[in-house]
Amino acid sequence: LGLAAQLVSSAQADADRPGLPRAVGALRAQLRDPIQRRVVGVVLVGAALAGIVAFGLAGHGSVLRGLGVPAAALLPGLTVLSCLAEMTVVRLRHGEAVEELSLYEAALIIDVLLLPPRDALIAAAAGLVLASALQRRPVVKAVFNLGTYTAATAVLILIVHLLGGRPGEMTLGVLVGVVVGTLAFTGVNLLCLAQILGVLNKVAPWRIVRSEARLSAYMAVGTMVTGLTTTEIALHSPLLLPFMAMPALAVTYAYRAAAREADEHARSACLLQLSHALAEREDVVRQFLVLVREAFGADLAVVVLENDDTALSVESTDPTALRTGPIPRHLATLGRIDGPVHLAEDLPGGLRRMVVVPVQGGGRRFGTAAFATRDRSRGWMTTGDVTLLASLASALAVAMRGAEHLDRLVDETSKLQAVVEQSAEGIMVIDGDGTVQVWSRALADITGVDAAEATGRPLATVLDVPVEEERRLLMPVSVEQPKAVAELTARRRDGEQRRLRLAHSAVFTAGLLVRDVVVISDLTREYRTERLKSDFIAMVSHELRTPLTPIIGYVDLLRSRGERMTPQKRLDALNLIGDRAGHLSRLVEDLLLASRFGDNPDDVSLQVSAGTHDLCALATQAARDLGSARVVLDLPPGPVLAHCDDGRALQVLANLIGNGLKYSAEETEVAIGMRLDGTRVHVDVRDHGRGIPADQLAKVFDKFHRVEDPMTMSTSGTGLGLFIARRLARAMGGDVTVVSTLNSGSVFTLSLTRANAEPPAE
Ligand code: ADP
Repeated sequence: LGLAAQLVSSAQADADRPGLPRAVGALRAQLRDPIQRRVVGVVLVGAALAGIVAFGLAGHGSVLRGLGVPAAALLPGLTVLSCLAEMTVVRLRHGEAVEELSLYEAALIIDVLLLPPRDALIAAAAGLVLASALQRRPVVKAVFNLGTYTAATAVLILIVHLLGGRPGEMTLGVLVGVVVGTLAFTGVNLLCLAQILGVLNKVAPWRIVRSEARLSAYMAVGTMVTGLTTTEIALHSPLLLPFMAMPALAVTYAYRAAAREADEHARSACLLQLSHALAEREDVVRQFLVLVREAFGADLAVVVLENDDTALSVESTDPTALRTGPIPRHLATLGRIDGPVHLAEDLPGGLRRMVVVPVQGGGRRFGTAAFATRDRSRGWMTTGDVTLLASLASALAVAMRGAEHLDRLVDETSKLQAVVEQSAEGIMVIDGDGTVQVWSRALADITGVDAAEATGRPLATVLDVPVEEERRLLMPVSVEQPKAVAELTARRRDGEQRRLRLAHSAVFTAGLLVRDVVVISDLTREYRTERLKSDFIAMVSHELRTPLTPIIGYVDLLRSRGERMTPQKRLDALNLIGDRAGHLSRLVEDLLLASRFGDNPDDVSLQVSAGTHDLCALATQAARDLGSARVVLDLPPGPVLAHCDDGRALQVLANLIGNGLKYSAEETEVAIGMRLDGTRVHVDVRDHGRGIPADQLAKVFDKFHRVEDPMTMSTSGTGLGLFIARRLARAMGGDVTVVSTLNSGSVFTLSLTRANAEPPAE
């Protein structure tokens, strides 16, 4: 009927065409749908078989007689029985699948045995239609069921009547007829069903028949035996009929209990999984929807988050996929609910009932969760289930809050980490046992120990503090003095010493050290500068005092006994005073010059004038000015012209030759040689003195650097000579270099550009 109504309605939509062709066109359009085509086919087969029964077995009465109930009451009575049996469904769970067993087949056997063929067919079909109407089944489904059952029942009736004959009581023929008929009934039923399932699941129908045949046959035989036995008992001792229900009830309840237990099991597994997922705090909303939907057997699970205009949902058709969509109307209008709310009206998409719970916990509200079912049965969502659902929603809220906290914590931690890592000062954190917990990158640079190596180790084993007394300063904090600053010298792996300032800031709880945060500054530079300054003052005062002492002595001598001294002695004294005063003047000159040189070597250009001079003559003059017999000249005969400032070149050579004399033994020579090399000329000053350690070779050209310890000072000097010499040489376009072997001698070389050099041969 429903199908006819649909056909008519679609035919009406096509109102332009006249009557019959219009109906035919509509039918064609409907039949293009494979499901509807099969439904129509099944209905036609059912109708044809029903016709055969109605006319072929027209003269047949009922198979069994003697129930004692008037025939007029029997048909409606059995129709009602069939209807009730169809509505009595036992859900049988085996493994993961659930079968629905109705008692319709049992009632059918009773119909077939107690009613004449046509009445049996009517009772079966009417019972089915009644049940479909009461359960408000979709029209297409009801029509399909009617077609299938009519076809199958017709086959059953035909077989029972053909094999059983017309006995009026239970004979072997009837029994065989019922057994064969039931199997045939199941076969027809399954074949029809397989047609539809095949289309829906996109598999060949015979595959479905093969996989379902055995179970269907068992179920059919079971219900058939129930029907047969019930009929026999009704015929012979109707009083016992109520007891017939006992085994069925017992089995039903046993099944229900088992099914519930299995459901509970499955639910517990889901909830356990959910508790893990919530504890993990990852992807919590999706996990909540997927697992809670499964646990409660809902068809739809939705979460609407606060201040969000989309709804997240999971449906039973694709139970692991999270969909995002607009907020369903019935949830949008719900407002802020405080506790569970049941909805049963106005639900879309065939949903029958819905339970809505707030997602809130720990004083915060995150949104609303809703679970809905298409199922009509009353068992879904007991009060206990709803309470459980509400607490699961709270657990979700707590997990979401936890996840939020965690995110914030991660954010804060990464900020702090950035501060620690980016800080130019070294930062470390030490725990109560003195073990390093945090070791910043800057600290790794300062100490030469990287974070991976330092963390987890006691501080005393990480920082190498050579001085015993300073080692105590590693942990100077106490309950009375939780903040403390200490300075100490630590040794790096490469042997370099670093002066460090450790600013401690410790936390004590109940008298016990919990944590000490230490900021470490590298004072090495300042420390060196400080030392340099004091060394400089010591050096300058020593250097100034050395020539001043004889000056003051001789001036005193001249003043007190000047008249009594011979002219020669007076001249000698005056010469010495002049010589020392000259030395003082040079010293002051050097200091001034050095102070004027900045770090940029070009600054020195102001101090030199450009010119061309004979380097041989300048070297000879420098040697002669020093007036030492130890100086040996080994120079080319002719003049060697070089681009230079003659005064500055003389100053440089005097310094190099003077150093050679100063830093070698009295009896050794200082040789001055000259090499020509393309456009360059080199003056080598070679001594056989103490030499310079390899690691000091570059440093001797630094300002104030002396290989000598300034405190002992076995030789006098300012450490400025080589610094000035190199700066001046470079200002003249040349350089001063050194090659030296410790305890064997040094060669200092002044290199300049030749003035009249031939271009070097190609
Ligand atoms: P000063 O001689 O006044 O100390 P210099 O700058 O001329 O300063 O020299 C720097 C240092 O280099 C000296 O203190 C000395 O230790 C070292 N030095 C210079 N010349 C020689 C040399 N010929 N042999 C050994 N050491 C030298």
